[in-house]
Amino acid sequence: MNDVIQRFMFEHTATRGAWIRLSKSVSDALEHHDYPDMVNQLLAKAMACSCLLVSSIKLAGKVIFQLQTDGKAPLILAQSNEQYHIRALARLDNDSPEDTPLLGKGHLAITLAPDHSDEKFQGLVTFDDDSMNTALERYFDQSEQIPTKLYLASTKTETVGLLLQRMPGNQYQDVEIFEELTILANTLSDEELLSWDLETLLAKVFHEHDIRLLPSESIQFKCSCSEEKIEGILINLGKEELLDILKDHPYVEIHCDFCNKQFLYRKNQIDKLFDNT
Ligand SMILES: [Zn+2]
Repeated sequence: MNDVIQRFMFEHTATRGAWIRLSKSVSDALEHHDYPDMVNQLLAKAMACSCLLVSSIKLAGKVIFQLQTDGKAPLILAQSNEQYHIRALARLDNDSPEDTPLLGKGHLAITLAPDHSDEKFQGLVTFDDDSMNTALERYFDQSEQIPTKLYLASTKTETVGLLLQRMPGNQYQDVEIFEELTILANTLSDEELLSWDLETLLAKVFHEHDIRLLPSESIQFKCSCSEEKIEGILINLGKEELLDILKDHPYVEIHCDFCNKQFLYRKNQIDKLFDNT
């Protein structure tokens, strides 16, 4: 089964939803790292969240989902762009005491970075020993004013998410229908979420409602690092700084933390870079 995200609408109501299943794209993104399984599962859920954010906000650009806490994994970061190219990384604090939880207290930061603009928009919500689901629900509620319910389940190899949202317009019946739909969705077990495809899930859980499915979209791991971007970083650092590095090293080395790719620049390449500027 391919890695996909699919949106759907509950006809004649203000509720919409999105369903996501990730497997290969996550293993492709994580094979560049050597994290423990528990961290991989957090990153998989974070990548699902970043895709659900993109589908909900419909931004031409990228969304960065960043969980920063005082836990054993102080940083969980996942990113998706509007084509659902995803990537992720974590930082681990190996000096923290044995009984420290992976996620502690801190905050969830959602950054929206539109293409063709240097401006970024960041929304912050507290993360207080809770789950990613409730933190993202809080973000949608506080920063986007969209009441949201999110269900996430994962195994070592698969991650599935279901998002329900009530769109603006606070008609009394809309609020009631959204509540009714979330009560139905609350009955879903992790096993059911993981084993059913979207059609089965909708038929079994929401069979009394008319639902319109939008086309599914595929998701893949793709790192956005490129020679062009690295050269931009080098030019920003300045020639003097780079020549300083080259006094002690045969080349300037830049490493992509997402995909582990190394970019090496020798003196003649650095010279050429600044000739063109
Ligand atoms: Zn990369």
